[in-house]
Parts: sequence; structure tokens; C-alpha cells
Amino acid sequence: MNWEIIEAKVKRSVDLTDEEAKWLLERRDSSDLKRLYALAGEMNEKLNGRTVSFIHNMNINYTNICEYHCTFCEFKKSPASKEAYILSADDVKRQIDSADGAISEITFQGGLSPEVKFNEVLGLLKQLRRFYPGIHFHAFSPEEIDYYAAETGQSYLEVVSQAQEAGMNSMCGTAAEVLDDEVRRKICWEKISSDEWCEIIKTAHKLGMPSTATILFGHVETAQNVVNHFKRVRDLQRETGGITEFIPLLFMPDKTKLGRVIDRHLDRIEYAFKMIAVARLYFMNDIRNIQTSWVKLGWANALESLDYGANDMSGTLYHESITREAGGENGEYTPREKFVSEIRRIGKIPLERDTIYSYQKAAHPSLRGHFVASQ
Ligand code: SF4
Repeated sequence: MNWEIIEAKVKRSVDLTDEEAKWLLERRDSSDLKRLYALAGEMNEKLNGRTVSFIHNMNINYTNICEYHCTFCEFKKSPASKEAYILSADDVKRQIDSADGAISEITFQGGLSPEVKFNEVLGLLKQLRRFYPGIHFHAFSPEEIDYYAAETGQSYLEVVSQAQEAGMNSMCGTAAEVLDDEVRRKICWEKISSDEWCEIIKTAHKLGMPSTATILFGHVETAQNVVNHFKRVRDLQRETGGITEFIPLLFMPDKTKLGRVIDRHLDRIEYAFKMIAVARLYFMNDIRNIQTSWVKLGWANALESLDYGANDMSGTLYHESITREAGGENGEYTPREKFVSEIRRIGKIPLERDTIYSYQKAAHPSLRGHFVASQ
């Protein structure tokens, strides 16, 4: 493996092999990392210019009751817990109405519990859709779809179709964790397999709904596990074209069970930068948007990662409780004005987007999978 070959391939938009991606993920020397970040930064500029997008959004976690035992999760509560809740339509309405200006997207997800039936969640979504016809509902992870399919005895297609009729506009690409069953068996053994995750995401795409794709990293996974995940996501994208963005989520270890068994000497921020950079190079012309997270990394690091391949700053995000429950310090609301001023301060161009990045489609209506700089 050598840098010259990789740089020449990136310049000509030739796919990196899985071995090359693994080699890049394994670099530790500061000179190698500088070279990696510069290459990913250049690729990002080629695709997205200096534009950095963000969205005005809100997370609604309709219940925190969950019967699963994922070792990285401190969000879930048992039904007997004093902190357990199930939101009513009025609760959610109050949250949405308290927002500063019109919200563009609601991320609508919840725990997995016999206390909350699919019909009730559909009813809640239908009411919200009636109240807020203009909001994009980015709803349900593949895990929830599988859970509700088991509860109701219906197929994935039937469950996703009903959710779509109730008001769902796109699917959350969460619950992917690492799409390598070796890792899933260790950290979330009750969850669906990698194959099932892909099948459910493809079901949404088949019904005309896009999705995101995430990875939860910084725990027990190896570089090979990460590359296996990347390959699944790239193959899926080449089949359907339905993934709007790739979202690397840094694991927050502090209050979790999994946090007690991981390598505490790992430089987590450096790993996050590397993940963003390698994702940018691996997904090249297949997934144009690579998200960085101010919630996970903090503002200063998130802004820095915009030079290493990321082009989207995620959202203003009201009530992000999952990261905070796991020990993260960020995750409350940040006003749009801060996104605009911070992005400008580092010499980039802020752009408020919608869930499906319409501004990119408007700029290049005939392009899918072949991007050119928009600025
Ligand atoms: S990650 Fe999701 S499925 Fe797993 S325990 Fe937490 S809420 Fe439940």
C-alpha cells in the first residue's frame, strides 16, 4: 500500500479498495494523518465547494422504555423506572410549539417495548402529521420496524408502508451500529442482523423514501469491521441510491457498560477525524454528504473536521437526550445564528438545508451518483 497510488486514485475518482480503506484507518503517524485529512478535504471541496449545511430540527424520542440491553445505551429505561415516559400527542406538540422558528425536520424514534404498540405509535404520528403538515418526519430505525413487524405479524413492507401512510417521510439510518455481525453479537446481540438492517433500509428506498446511514464507532470494533460496514453501505447505495448522508457517531463511553471494557487510551477525537476522512474517500461519488456532530465532538472539533472531509454540521437539535444520557456534554439546542456565524468564522459558506438536501438536487437535477462542486 502506498500514498502515491491512493492519491492518484482519489484524483481520478477511482474507488478505493477495502484494503486501502483499512490501511488508511490504521494510520497513526501525524504525517500520515495530515496527508489523509488533506486528501479528504480536497475531495470534499471538489464535491461541495466551501458550503457547509445544517438543518433546523428536533428529536422526538416518543418513549425511553426499552426491553433490549445494548451495552452502549444509557437512554433506555425499564417500565418501573421513575424516569420512564411515553409521550402523548400533546406533549410532543408542546415541544414542537416551543421551538424557535419553524422546524424543518422531526426525528421520530423510540425504545422497543410491549408497553408501546405499533398502532399507538402510528396514531401519534398521524396526529402530528395533521398538526404539522409541512414538517418532514424522519422516522423509525430499522430496529423499530423489525420490532413492530414481530409485534403485528406483518412483513417489513407492510409495516413501513403503514408508517409512510401515517406521515413518515424518510427512515432513520440508526441502529446500524457496526454492520458486521461479529461486532453486533458483542454489543447489541438482541438487535437485527446486518442483512436485516440492509433489507429494511432497502424497503424504505423501494417505497420512495430516502434514509441516512450511520456507524457507531470507538468501542470494540477493528479497522476490518469498519471496512466491512463501509462496504455494506456502499453496495446498498449502489443498488438503490437512497442514502442521503453518512453519519459517523462517536461512542460516548462515560456512563455505559460498554465504556468500562474499551481501550481508554485511544485518542477518540483523532479517531473521529480519521473516520470522517476515510468515509469521505471511500464513499467518494456514492454518498456526497458526510456529517460531523457537534453533539458528539463538541463545537471546536466539529468545526475542525470540516477541513477533513465533512460537509454537514447536523442540526440545531432540540432535546437530544441519547448522547447526554450516555455522558456526553453537548446535545441541547443551538440556535441557527450560531451555525451561521461559526461556519462563516472559519471561512466557509453556511447553508440551511432540508432533510433530502434539495439544494443539491436543484443545482444538478440530472445527477445521481456523479457530483460536481456547487460553489
Ligand atoms: S440502543 Fe435502542 S434498542 Fe438498544 S437498549 Fe437503547 S433504546 Fe433499546
